[in-house]
Amino acid sequence: MNLLYELEIPTRCELCPRRCGADRTKRPGRCEAGSRLKVARAALHFWEEPCISGSRGSGTVFFSGCSLGCCYCQNWKISAEGLGKEIDAERLARIFCELQDKGAHNLNLVTPTQWLPWILPALQKAREMGCTLPVVYNTGGYETEETVALLAPVVDIWLSDVKYVSSELSGRYSDAPDYFEVCQKAARQMIAQAGPPRFDSDGVMERGVILRHLALPGSVQDSFAVLDFLASLPEGSFLPSLMSQYTPFYRAKEQKPLNRRITSYEYDRVINRALELGLCQGYMQQRSSAKEEYTPPFDLEGV
Ligand code: SF4
Repeated sequence: MNLLYELEIPTRCELCPRRCGADRTKRPGRCEAGSRLKVARAALHFWEEPCISGSRGSGTVFFSGCSLGCCYCQNWKISAEGLGKEIDAERLARIFCELQDKGAHNLNLVTPTQWLPWILPALQKAREMGCTLPVVYNTGGYETEETVALLAPVVDIWLSDVKYVSSELSGRYSDAPDYFEVCQKAARQMIAQAGPPRFDSDGVMERGVILRHLALPGSVQDSFAVLDFLASLPEGSFLPSLMSQYTPFYRAKEQKPLNRRITSYEYDRVINRALELGLCQGYMQQRSSAKEEYTPPFDLEGV
């Protein structure tokens, strides 16, 4: 077997823009990821964009820990509180194959960056075991250019957030004042690597980039700035996905204005601005999508 990727636990981790330098053989990093891979759920998921979920579902693997730490995270039990089961890369490879056997259109890796030293060998092993599914990299958009480049041979579809432009907002809500500076470089690089969106005969995405923006309560002006950024990218090079499903979770429940859902007025303003800017070829959620049921149960299914 020609091993391209060998599991090596970072002793000075710089996988994400925090570059916290943790020796993960000794202690977890700022993202709470340590020396044992942790996964909270591996199952078919039907609530992504239609070109990702298709008719049979997206083979979604939820990883524990996160380098961002948003105060409104809907997955806070796994991202911030460490819920998950410790497994090894061999088991992860089998999970990937099991998702293919269940009929998944793709492998959808949710918040995976802190576990790349395990994921890359597992993907390679899964390929050797016959897994042919495209890989979706489902990220909050806070990625280094080095990590995006590392993933060029592996990732087919980038499903990335563009959460904020304002460093004041990204500092307050995600403890990442440099979010936009980092995210916009990463997004441009994802587009350069993946090329324009490509679909199979059933309309399921095979390659490309989706840039998501979740409209937050009280942040219409910053959503406008995000839309300006999206409109500045080459036309047809990605699909925009505007989301209205914000629901107050985690620490946001006690924090104004995040302790409410967005209003129809706010979301309509965001949608109208997107249309004015020509961001028409993509996805827009109904405001009725703001439901807690969109958060899957983290019951270790499939792990
Ligand atoms: S992935 Fe985690 S351990 Fe690595 S640099 Fe980022 S926060 Fe630190």
